[in-house]
This record gives sequence, structure tokens and C-alpha cells, in this order.
Amino acid sequence: MIPWTAAAFFLLAGAGPPGEFRSAADVHAWAARTFPNLRPGSPDVGALPVSTWNLLAPELDRLAREWPEVAARLEGLQPPGRRWDTPRTAPMIAEADNARGRWLAFRPDFWAGAPDPRARPADVVRHEWAHLLQAWLRDAHPAVHLELVRVFRDRSDRFDRRTASEVSRRAEASEAEAFAEAFVAAASRPEGRPAPARRFAAILARFAAQGQPPQGLASGGSP
Ligand SMILES: [Zn+2]
Repeated sequence: MIPWTAAAFFLLAGAGPPGEFRSAADVHAWAARTFPNLRPGSPDVGALPVSTWNLLAPELDRLAREWPEVAARLEGLQPPGRRWDTPRTAPMIAEADNARGRWLAFRPDFWAGAPDPRARPADVVRHEWAHLLQAWLRDAHPAVHLELVRVFRDRSDRFDRRTASEVSRRAEASEAEAFAEAFVAAASRPEGRPAPARRFAAILARFAAQGQPPQGLASGGSP
């Protein structure tokens, strides 16, 4: 749901709100408004049909409002010319720049068809956003970042797969994947969160209360 003031803006702008885009121009207008530092040509709207952007944009839009500094670092959303045909041990449906938080991309041949219904777009977007968020926190708020990753470390300060496994199978892969999966789990109902995800959500919520204002983490917004 969009406040009427925002709806009026979209009507005036002639573009549908995120989730109701009707053309590639709508997608470009939304992306330029939401991610102020995108490089020219990004997003490559041709790589994904407008219907796919309608699946992905609502959660992307919500997260960009919650984390404007993360949104401002993004330079490539579905960067033009990106290739997905490199050998992978596991098929990848989306990827984000966990080192610097500069780009985010969705695999066209997966999303342009009828995506596997088990891949919930909001969760996939949220997982990838967490990789961008981690890059920003590592640079801008290292103490909070350390506190968050330590949720998944043992007493020797090494990645603890067993703790990560409480969140999800994918979380076991690495500290970065545990971070992303905990961020997804933090959006679920508090009573449904695994214990490490509850600790992770509490740290983020406290950070939010101190200045950064993402809503819904403490009270458990819906994914
Ligand atoms: Zn990941």
C-alpha cells in the first residue's frame, strides 16, 4: 500500500509505483529516483521483462527507503553487459557485491521465465540486499558489523557453521551467507526466528534506534 501522496506523485509522473510498472521507462524512472548514483545504462531493463521488475521492485524500494546509505552506494542495478555463463558449482539466481556494495544483479534466464515458486522474490531481494548492507556496515560502522558477524563466530572468533546452521542450510556456507540469511530471518515473525537470527535482529534494531531508522526489525515486519 502506498500513501495517497506518493500515489499522486506516481500518477503525476505517469509511472506506475514499484510493482505496477507498465513500461521500461517506468522502471528506469523508479530506479533513478531510488538509487541516485546508478551508472548510465543501469538498470539494463532489456535483460529482465517489466513483469520481473514488478516482482522485485517492491522489496527493493522498501529496503532502499530503510537504508538510504546502502541505496546511495549502488552504482549497478542489473548492470549492462553482465554475463552469467561462467562456470558455477551451484546455479545462481542473483548476486550482489559483498566487497563494496556497488552492484546487484538478477539472473535473467531464471527470472524472465516462470521462476521456481520456492524462490520468493522478496526473500531473494532481501538476501542480496544484506550483502550490500554488510559492505556498507563494514566500512561505515565497523563496530556494529563486528557485533553482527560475531553472532556466527565461536570463542576463537572463527566462523561457526553450527550456529549458522540454525538459521538455514545456505547460512552454513560462509560468514557472508550467514549474515544474509539472518537478515532474511530477521524480517520474519519474532517467534519464528531461530535464536541466532533473534540476536542478529536485536543488534540491528538497537543500531536502528540509535540513528539509522529501519522499521520492522524489532517488531518483526513481514518479508
Ligand atoms: Zn548470498
